[in-house]
Amino acid sequence: MQQIRLNVLRSKPRQRDTYKDLCGSMYVSIIADNSYLHVGSGREKFEVDLKKLKEIYARRKRIDVSVLKELQLKIGYSEFTSTTMGTVIPGSSVKGNVRARLELSFHGFNGNVRSCFLKASRLTKLAGEGESGWRHQRVWGETILEDRGFPCDYTKMDNVCLICDLFGTAGLKSLIEFSDFIGLNVKLEALDLPYGMKVYAAPQGSEFSGEISFMNLKDYELGLLLLGMGIVNGSTGRSVILGRFKYRGLMDNKKFGRVKYKINKISLSKFSDKLTIGNLTINPGSSIEGEKLNTICKELANLSLKHFQNELRIVDEVGILEKL
Ligand SMILES: [Zn+2]
Repeated sequence: MQQIRLNVLRSKPRQRDTYKDLCGSMYVSIIADNSYLHVGSGREKFEVDLKKLKEIYARRKRIDVSVLKELQLKIGYSEFTSTTMGTVIPGSSVKGNVRARLELSFHGFNGNVRSCFLKASRLTKLAGEGESGWRHQRVWGETILEDRGFPCDYTKMDNVCLICDLFGTAGLKSLIEFSDFIGLNVKLEALDLPYGMKVYAAPQGSEFSGEISFMNLKDYELGLLLLGMGIVNGSTGRSVILGRFKYRGLMDNKKFGRVKYKINKISLSKFSDKLTIGNLTINPGSSIEGEKLNTICKELANLSLKHFQNELRIVDEVGILEKL
């Protein structure tokens, strides 16, 4: 496989200071799918056995170095990100995940490509099995060897690619904003993994909930946003990868980094155009949920696939990784 030099299709970004086309919010869940999830804060934490601490304190009636020794403090666990809201997946991590998936889902067609590589990491040469990046490469195939040149930078150029127009780049505000995704009763587990790695991870079934707001999107671009979450056939997507260890195989018999995105509601703001697709309509200032939402997600995703046919493909990341 050789590196392929491609021309990134760029145009003037759309206006951001007035409302046009579709504006609103999606209310979304991210659910750990038969797997642990770790999104790191970069900090480490002490783990104390509270029961044992109480026991020792009852005996000694004071806390000193000998108590700490007897406690056998567990140290060095990588923390899961948290805020005052509790355990969260930061909005920036979710946005990065969706954006990178779209950058890698577009591929060269007739020498052109719809997206630069701003978020996705590309390889400059093929990685052999076991080498750094080889699983990443097996998943995305030739796409990650594509030479798309420098990513868009609106402080230096007048035109940007579609993905930078939607998600922003240097000097250009994003049209799509991601809130932090807040854990709903997530019970983190302290895990001891091979090679001395220690992490706090959210167990399978853990659910995180957040909001993705959008402005000035076309219907097929709203569909593209769904495709970026792995959503094609309804309001719940296929299993996709997110967070730490997502490219690894089993670690101590544990799987990491598989999630499903689930759309719970789509609302249009009163400044939005109405959205009509098939025989369903969402009016400005109203929302859609349930079975109708399921249908509308499917229709939007398919509209986008049709609009970008030959330029975009669906990659079953988890399916490919399971076979490696
Ligand atoms: Zn770009």
